[in-house]
Amino acid sequence: MDLPPDSTTLETLPLTGRVHVVGAGPVGLLLTALLQSIEGFSVRLFEKRPEYTRTRMVQLESYLMADSVESYRVDAIDGDSVEAIFDPSELERRLAFRQSIAPDLSALLKTWELGFCPLNSIERSISALIEARGKDVERTEATVTAEDAIAMIQPGEILVDATGSRSLLRDHLVPGTREAEEDANTVKVRLEYALVITFLYGQPYDCNESCKYYKNIENARYKFIPMVHRTHYDGSVSHVTGIVSISAEEFEALPSRFDGEWLRANLPEVAQSMDRFIDKVKEETHGEILGDLEVVRIPLDLYRARNATNRQWLAAAPSEHPFATSLVFLAGDSAIGSPYFQSISLGFECAMFLAGLIAQRDLPLSDMLDRYELYIYKQWLRVYMRSKMIKHNKDLFESLDDPLAILDKLHIY
Ligand SMILES: Cc1cc2nc3c(=O)[nH]c(=O)nc-3n(C[C@H](O)[C@H](O)[C@H](O)COP(=O)(O)OP(=O)(O)OC[C@H]3O[C@@H](n4cnc5c(N)ncnc54)[C@H](O)[C@@H]3O)c2cc1C
Repeated sequence: MDLPPDSTTLETLPLTGRVHVVGAGPVGLLLTALLQSIEGFSVRLFEKRPEYTRTRMVQLESYLMADSVESYRVDAIDGDSVEAIFDPSELERRLAFRQSIAPDLSALLKTWELGFCPLNSIERSISALIEARGKDVERTEATVTAEDAIAMIQPGEILVDATGSRSLLRDHLVPGTREAEEDANTVKVRLEYALVITFLYGQPYDCNESCKYYKNIENARYKFIPMVHRTHYDGSVSHVTGIVSISAEEFEALPSRFDGEWLRANLPEVAQSMDRFIDKVKEETHGEILGDLEVVRIPLDLYRARNATNRQWLAAAPSEHPFATSLVFLAGDSAIGSPYFQSISLGFECAMFLAGLIAQRDLPLSDMLDRYELYIYKQWLRVYMRSKMIKHNKDLFESLDDPLAILDKLHIY
């Protein structure tokens, strides 16, 4: 390969207009659809799953389609952090990009902001939209390895890793190691271990903080805490998702996913807490559980990529490695992950920001990388503060009937 003459690779690198997106989950798809509307780009999209099967219900945060800085900051916990972290002009630029989104895509985003919707219907709708537009996207069903991804990229091309929390390339973004070292480029904060329990209920049911308290009043150890805004009535059925905190030892001993019957047989104390909670819901609203409980055990991790681009490769001495002559970005869960389930909106916002940067063809490449890194870092601060706040509130909630235990958890000036 002909290398640029000196270490100013970045300044001499012409962008070709070819973008490779690995991972057609919600974020890879949205990015692809956004780039499809931008003149002069073609996208190669890779996805390993032949079908979209994830049915969990998600809702987009209202800030995602906000039309003013005030409405962007409407969330009680998040709004203050946003104001502290982002300059108004940054938010204005972001809002302006949103307003430029093509009407077909914008209409879909607005629908998903209104109510809950299964994840796979978001994935199917954006896939269908990309296909219906019929231009500039070549989609391939394949499991891409890190080696494949590195080999496919030519000088001046862009590679976006949108492969989710187990990112394909995150730990390859730091030069100096031949093989990627696990977590070489990942900062991780483990907040807790939890069971995520989901059930359907045949009546409208909503839950606020006092409901969480009173329905758990006899549950000293295992409290079932429905997520913030996580009960949703779709006209005939309430979809309820919540978490129960468990210990690291319990986490290790459990299978990754199981049902209510298994829960009763193997974790009777958790099952009794759930029964007490559900009985109180039934007393109030006279409905029945539809089907069984679905239980998944997960570690609630907050993480970020230290480098969300290949900036370090480009700054290092000239090299034959493809990352030294191309642009690589991590997007969505690949770059940042937060528990407590607000991530799809973060990922969508990330796709919008990246598409907006890529569209600015006259932007020096070093600026493009720097701006993206700064953006991801600021989003990390936002996510970190929000997640720590929720965890702290949860910890206090667990001890609400024990003033001494609460005082132990408070750090007041
Ligand atoms: C139990 C659970 C509940 C959740 N609930 C919510 C919620 O209510 N609200 C919310 O906002 N978020 C929720 N989330 C998080 C949300 O689902 C994610 O933030 C979102 O799916 C991230 O999108 P993504 O496109 O970045 O990654 P993913 O959705 O993980 O998509 C990555 C895609 O890349 C593909 N891929 C991976 N590796 C390769 C490879 N090597 N080659 C080719 N393709 C590859 C995968 O098949 C997948 O399609 C939840 C997550 C979990 C686990």
